[in-house]
Amino acid sequence: MIPAEQSDVQKMPANSLSDWANSDWQTEMRRAITDVDSLLTALNLPPLRGRDRLTEAETNIELASSQFSVRVPLPYLARMEAGNPNDPLLRQVLPRPEEMDQVAGFDMDAVGDLNAVKTTGLLQKYSGRALIIATGGCAVNCRFCFRRHFPYAEQALNHSQWQSILDALKADPSIQEIILSGGDPLLLSDDRLASMVNDLAAIPHIQRLRVHSRLPVVIPNRITTPLITALSQTRLAAVMVLHINHGNEIDQALQSAVLKLLSDGIPTLNQSVLLAGVNDSYADLRDLSEQLVEARIIPYYIHLLDKVSGTAHFQVSNNKAAELMKRMRESLPGYLCPRWVYEEAGEPAKTPFLS
Ligand SMILES: *Cc1c(COP(=O)(O)O)cnc(C)c1O
Ligand code: SF4
Repeated sequence: MIPAEQSDVQKMPANSLSDWANSDWQTEMRRAITDVDSLLTALNLPPLRGRDRLTEAETNIELASSQFSVRVPLPYLARMEAGNPNDPLLRQVLPRPEEMDQVAGFDMDAVGDLNAVKTTGLLQKYSGRALIIATGGCAVNCRFCFRRHFPYAEQALNHSQWQSILDALKADPSIQEIILSGGDPLLLSDDRLASMVNDLAAIPHIQRLRVHSRLPVVIPNRITTPLITALSQTRLAAVMVLHINHGNEIDQALQSAVLKLLSDGIPTLNQSVLLAGVNDSYADLRDLSEQLVEARIIPYYIHLLDKVSGTAHFQVSNNKAAELMKRMRESLPGYLCPRWVYEEAGEPAKTPFLS
């Protein structure tokens, strides 16, 4: 299947962002790549063979992409190296045959969110802070994500669900912080977000607002003036938490977006996932931390992989993870070392890895 956008893609100068600098984020959402062959050809890699001549591996790639579709915005594609099938950004978004393998210990529901639901769209696992699933959709489909098994849950909260969330929050003065998450909460329009921020700020015991998003990483123009206004003109202390896994994901456009947030009083943190073939070397992790701080983003967490079926090829052994963590702690300033954690159902916080 070859979409109409492909001709645009082939003209793209690899690793140049100039073409995307002026387009708005909704345009980039619309023209994101959504199939394997377009992704491969855009990077000068051979596409899959014709439908009747697929190898077993290619058949599994097709199956994997029909279970969880490909989604790659062009500003993110522009940061991949053409001709490199092992590019660390490509590896995060290109379906692989191994996704169809059944591996012991990798299940459908790895993080056990169901027990934490207070009302539809509102999760609380930890003291003092609650998480709102503002929408189920994302701007990029990351192959290692638990979302691969919930692609149908793309809709945003409706009006009555939002009112129930507000009622639950008003009734619980122990909640001081709200995390807007998803999916990706920045898929919502600036108007919708501004109105949500206002509703939350009207609840006296809420002090802080966190936005967990990968959208500004894959489409830096998502950091718009109205969004910055909504986050900076509220009485709530707002913090942006991005999701960046490799230094190559940080470019000039993302740096400018982060600086705009910072100059309006909104700090940016980062969380990463430790991923085999993407960032499981000391050189890659050090480079990621150095580039984050260079871009004025503070490394916050590095998560060990959630054991979700279809993601076993991203798993890094505990021994290797422990070595990497030790080397980072011994070689880098403390604030360049994120906290190494994993998620264990029923625990009162993210669980520290080996400490
Ligand atoms: C990860 C997570 C948080 C945030 O944890 P912090 O340690 O505060 O960053 C909050 N709520 C839920 C449900 C989470 O999964
Ligand atoms: S929730 Fe985050 S990691 Fe998962 S697909 Fe969306 S952007 Fe990627």
